[in-house]
Amino acid sequence: MLANSYFWIGNGTTVLPGRACKQGSVLVKNGKILAVNEACPQGVTRIDAKGGYILPGFIDLHVHGGGGADFMDATPESVATVAIAHAKHGTTGLLATSMTSTNDVLEKMINSYLIAEEKGTGGAELLGLHLEGPYFSAKNKGAQPVKEQRIPTREELEYFIKLAKGRIVRWDEAPELENTDVFAQVMKENGIIASIAHTSAIAAQAYAAFDMGFSHITHFYSATTTGQKIDGLCYSGVNEATFLDDRITVELIADGRHIPREHMLLTYKIKGADKLALITDAMRAADTNDTQSILGAMDTGVPVVIKDNVAQLPDFSSYAGSVGTMDNALRVAHVRYGIPLVDVVKMMSLTPARIIGRSHDKGSLEVGKDADIVIMNNDFEVESVYVCGVEI
Ligand SMILES: [Zn+2]
Repeated sequence: MLANSYFWIGNGTTVLPGRACKQGSVLVKNGKILAVNEACPQGVTRIDAKGGYILPGFIDLHVHGGGGADFMDATPESVATVAIAHAKHGTTGLLATSMTSTNDVLEKMINSYLIAEEKGTGGAELLGLHLEGPYFSAKNKGAQPVKEQRIPTREELEYFIKLAKGRIVRWDEAPELENTDVFAQVMKENGIIASIAHTSAIAAQAYAAFDMGFSHITHFYSATTTGQKIDGLCYSGVNEATFLDDRITVELIADGRHIPREHMLLTYKIKGADKLALITDAMRAADTNDTQSILGAMDTGVPVVIKDNVAQLPDFSSYAGSVGTMDNALRVAHVRYGIPLVDVVKMMSLTPARIIGRSHDKGSLEVGKDADIVIMNNDFEVESVYVCGVEI
């Protein structure tokens, strides 16, 4: 299917912002959505959704790898491998996520991203870079290597922003670190989303960060803080501050392992589908059958084992990324956890698009937007995927 083709997808339930329509349809021309829920014009190619679902393409704001590759492998080929692996599962757009590393590896990762973005991946569209670290708390490191963790400096931040040619969309930091004000200021100056991650902050530090411009929480409940006792006194954490501050958006790893049902339902209840994005945080073993793998770059990354559908450090002291995919996230949130389909779809498409400022052209089946479309069957398995009107 070529981008300049003209086709109509019908005989399925379309999920639109706020409602689902049985016997819905989408008309696509030149990679854009031309009409929704209208009859097929004469002479236009018809695609049959066979009574399944016609959904907006999924946008994954936090993903490291898949199909055996990781963005930290730092080759344009590995970038394309990840993008293709996740497109098979309904992801039509993603942020390429780094992990804590030496500056040298991060430079290579950014350069390989820029080359792959220009060439196109043949899979999910690259919507920008997400730098996860290296400015984290050693206490709440998760699987991020401690050795490379450090304090942000304006010089280092600006060096990478310039290198990435404006393609850094979000950057994560632990707000209890020294120089958090500098980090927040540089993010603001460059229009980059500042996100709290791998932190040991208490609520007061989270509020201070929100006031400085931090607006998002990275894998909420994973390496974020809740109530804790310090010197006999009880303090609330980042989680409670986040629930109470309506400015803040969050993301949850929806692999069915990292986030138990009640955690997801509580977050959904308090933040709502407009402030909560579902992510995979997938590592390279996603869309493979591997039982042993490497988190991060192949040569310098962390060895992990895949057990019970999740990547773990070999001593089982911490989860080390998921092997989740976005189609599975939909099944976890909707089929297993019981969140209504319209809201689950929003948390996988329109809400992440809004968070990264792309809701004008991405994230929903609306006239004039890019034709990023997923057809699923009644078991919520992917039947076909279109990125800007091109079938993957
Ligand atoms: Zn991650």
